[in-house]
Amino acid sequence: MNLKITYPLESEFKITQDFFGSMPNWYKVHQAIDLKVKCPKYPNGIGNPVLSCFTGKYIKSGFDKQGGNYIWIRHNSGLEARYYHLDKINHKAGWSIRYIGNCIGWSGNTGEWTTAPHLHLAFIKNGVYLDPEPYFNNYLI
Ligand SMILES: [Zn+2]
Repeated sequence: MNLKITYPLESEFKITQDFFGSMPNWYKVHQAIDLKVKCPKYPNGIGNPVLSCFTGKYIKSGFDKQGGNYIWIRHNSGLEARYYHLDKINHKAGWSIRYIGNCIGWSGNTGEWTTAPHLHLAFIKNGVYLDPEPYFNNYLI
């Protein structure tokens, strides 16, 4: 299936933790990537629009003690993207992500497992965490 994937931040950012990074307060490796906002418009890293990496269906959103405000989006290929530590979530009932780059929230620093504003992005398919980075270099999976 053809699936176009883009980074969830339009502005400048830096990947500060990769998929295989260790988690000091967890028994597993990171299993996600962290993106730090570097846009001068949002000097504290809060409030930068977070864009959906691909089209798909809204699965769930809410607040998690460790992950803060989050939203999950699933492509019809089964690939799911989960976005954490959001300042605010952008979702309306019955809403689907019809365009790549739809704004699904704003970057923040919510939840216990963050020490500075960043976006924690996890890709999951069939219950398995996948490294998001290779997907950004290829339009097709
Ligand atoms: Zn993270």
